[in-house]
Amino acid sequence: MNRIERKYQRCTRCVMDTTDSRITFDENGVCDHCRNFDRNIKPYWKPQENRYEELEEIAKKIRKAGAGKDYDCILGLSGGADSSYLAYIAVEIMHLRPLAFVVDTGWNLNVAVENIEKIVKGLNLDLYTEVVNWKEMADLQLAFFKASISSCDQPQDHAIFAGLYNYAVKHKIKYVLTGSNNATEFIRPPVEWLYMNDIVMMKDIHKKYGTIPLRTYPMCGMAKYRIVYELICGMKRVYPLDYVVYDKEKAMQILHERYGWTKYENKHYENVFTRFFEGYYLPHKFGFDTRKNVCSNQILAGMMTREEALEILNHSPYDEDQIELDKEYIAKKMGISSKEFDEIIARPNKTPHDYKNQMWIIRAGVFILKMLGYENRNIRV
Ligand SMILES: [Zn+2]
Repeated sequence: MNRIERKYQRCTRCVMDTTDSRITFDENGVCDHCRNFDRNIKPYWKPQENRYEELEEIAKKIRKAGAGKDYDCILGLSGGADSSYLAYIAVEIMHLRPLAFVVDTGWNLNVAVENIEKIVKGLNLDLYTEVVNWKEMADLQLAFFKASISSCDQPQDHAIFAGLYNYAVKHKIKYVLTGSNNATEFIRPPVEWLYMNDIVMMKDIHKKYGTIPLRTYPMCGMAKYRIVYELICGMKRVYPLDYVVYDKEKAMQILHERYGWTKYENKHYENVFTRFFEGYYLPHKFGFDTRKNVCSNQILAGMMTREEALEILNHSPYDEDQIELDKEYIAKKMGISSKEFDEIIARPNKTPHDYKNQMWIIRAGVFILKMLGYENRNIRV
């Protein structure tokens, strides 16, 4: 499809704008994300209602499946608000016995590591940490930067969920609890901003720009977890946060009061790489600002006004001095100089279409999930 330069426009209700190149607006200037929310999400969405009975039904099944075993479920813990609150709900509300699973990608900030420790101790959980081979991780991340596409956080993102699913299936833990939720995530970042979890593209990029083989890096393609893991091995993903009132500010308050959990700036800023990637690389190189979809979600959920969101967007996501420090730190950790890193970042932008990819399968998958009513979000692949 040819890109036609569009006149800048921002939704009159949320803060999404034409940096999402396929956004459309109605005669009142309301965008398709908002219209999709009204049509497909809001009628079924009960944000002010705790559905404890439904949650208890699910919890019963999980407890039954785990009877006599060390754990009845597994949950990925990042130290962020979503996964920490998930752990609290799993133990205190659902009375489950989860194994806390952490993937150490080599970039976690102290605040995240401390939060993980506090949650694990406070809820008396067992913790398993999978440490990704650092040389492989750095090689793959540098390959993604050299590929000049916008999805440079895929190596971390993929390792985190692939590590979790692979472990769950290997150790026969049927239920995987996830912190994904509709209360904060019904507008996803557009696919052109973040195109994630395409294992074919990842391998192609690594083949072109990587320098060492990926021997232990955790991988799990979509077909593997959707078909082999879910249909054959019976792995089930559960989204408990969709059954409870999830007001993030209040959730963070509870975590702080109960466990001494510490808040950090912006979603996903528990990690140096992600802070640099979302705060500098994406907006600076591509003009994509993920705070727009995060804030828009909160506006539609009634937890933030449009004015408050615009005020947030008026400020730089992180301060100039920190950007330089992070850039230097990341370059050094990946084994290149700051100058080389700048030179790589300055190369012309590319898209996933410049590489082998699985977009058609993902497109078909989204189409089928929408037909079956499992996917109501506005995902344009
Ligand atoms: Zn909108």
